[in-house]
Order: sequence, then structure tokens, then C-alpha cells
Amino acid sequence: MINKPEIHVLDLNFQGMPEVTAAYLIVGPEGPILIETGPGSTLNTLLERIREHGFQPEQIKHVLVTHIHLDHAGAAGWWAQQGAQIYVHSFGAKHLIDPEKLLASAGRIYGDKMESLWGEMLPAPADKVTEVFDNDVLEVAGLNVKALETPGHARHHHVFVLGNVAFAGDAAAAQLPGWDFPDVPAPPPEFELEVWEATLDRLLAQKFERIYPTHFGPVDDVQGHLQAVKKLVRETAVFIKSKMDAGLSRDEIVVAYENWFAKRARAAGLTDAAINQYATANPLYMSVDGIMRYWQKREQV
Ligand SMILES: [Zn+2]
Repeated sequence: MINKPEIHVLDLNFQGMPEVTAAYLIVGPEGPILIETGPGSTLNTLLERIREHGFQPEQIKHVLVTHIHLDHAGAAGWWAQQGAQIYVHSFGAKHLIDPEKLLASAGRIYGDKMESLWGEMLPAPADKVTEVFDNDVLEVAGLNVKALETPGHARHHHVFVLGNVAFAGDAAAAQLPGWDFPDVPAPPPEFELEVWEATLDRLLAQKFERIYPTHFGPVDDVQGHLQAVKKLVRETAVFIKSKMDAGLSRDEIVVAYENWFAKRARAAGLTDAAINQYATANPLYMSVDGIMRYWQKREQV
């Protein structure tokens, strides 16, 4: 690539909170593309941000989503209905075309907060959805974007590579700007410890210059961050397992996890506001449920 494409971080101001959930606008030789759509609830903010960068939404013909969780792909159907092509992991494609099952699964996690958190999720016309497979190179707007299958947080997850930078979705966990504090999002039902560790090894081997987790913005110490995430994914899983083994109930484990999180956060210097941002990006009870489910499934084998 002769000229480095411009990359813009779009702050979706999720739940009225800055720097929690991003979408990325990349300007290719033939126009802008979008990586991540955010949920339906932040669509208007997303469109405003795109216009602030001098583009009209109808100029965006290609939309890539790292995975189908609602904070990443909730508005994908809207974009598809406007005529944009959506690129999504082959396992996730059918859930964008018919979101009913995905919404039911999210409903089990978020209950009556579904509407206020996520807004509307529209179905994508099938011909507007391109299934993506490991190592595919997507030719979009004059850019070559390579997909790396990166399960562990979710089975239907890709990291998108552009030159020596990568859009990491949730595969490199969350890290909010200004803090050296990764946080592991492990929602049910697809968290898998060893699979995620293998993904982190795969990402480490790429030696990216910079990565962009969806929560939130660029991380420049890529190797240090990925190593820290790898350690933390295991520590988190082991912490929850130890509470399960001690006979604590789910609600007791949530409290223990919140206390553990707060202790680590304070040690890293986080303010109360920052702790609140992290909890908005990634509700703590959700990771408890995801990791408990993972250990329970393993015991059934
Ligand atoms: Zn996710």
C-alpha cells in the first residue's frame, strides 16, 4: 500500500457514555468503509459521526463486522437495507438475515433492558450478506482487508487486518483510553478458555503495529496488551472456577467478581467514572455467567 488509509475512530457514545464502544471509518482509494456498526440504539450517533468526517452514509458500500454481538453488528441490517454489503463470519450470516435467535439469546442476558441498550435490529436482505472465512482477503473500496478467524470470545469472530494494523473486535478484550487495564468480556454461551488463548497466540504471532479493540480505540503496545489479556483470561476463568468449587451461588460469585474487579481497577488507578465506563462496555455479571457456563459444560463432557 503506497498511501496509508485514514482510520477514524467513531465514538458511538453508547448509553450516553464517551469512549466505550467504537465503530471505525476507513477511507480507501475508492471510498469509505465501516468496521462495526454498533447497535441500533446508537445508529443516529454513528450517522452523525460519519457526516462529521465529511461523508454521507450512502457513500458507504461495504460494512465489516467482527462478530454478531449487538454492540458490534446490531445496526448491520439497517446498513444492508440501505444497500451496503455486509461482511460477516459464515457462522453469523444467518443471524443477521434472521435476527430472531440472536435477539432471543441476548434477551436471556439483558432481559427488560434489551430495547434501551440495543434499540432495533433489522433483518439484512440475504443478498447483502457476504459470508467470510478464515484468511479471506476482502477487496473493499480499493483496500485489501484480511480476515483472521479468532474464536474464544465468540465462535463467529474475525479480526480484520489492514496492512500492519488490526481491528480486533472483542478478541483482544476491552481496554478503554487512558488506562493500562484490560478487561475480559466473556458473555454466554461461547466463551472458551483454551480456544481464546490460542487466538491470542495467533494475534501475538502477527506482530501488529497497532490494534483497535471495539471497546475502545487504538492500542499501541500490542504485544504487551495481548500478553496481559492472555494472562487475564486464564486468571478470570480460574477465579470463577475457584468460587464455584467453594460452593458459592451465581449471585455470590457475581459479588465476589465485582469486588475482585474493583480491587484490580483501583490498583491500576482507575477512577469511579472509569470503572463505570468499563462496566458499561462489559457488564461484569455477563462474564460470570459466560465463564460459569463454560465450566459447567466442561464438567458434562
Ligand atoms: Zn462480543
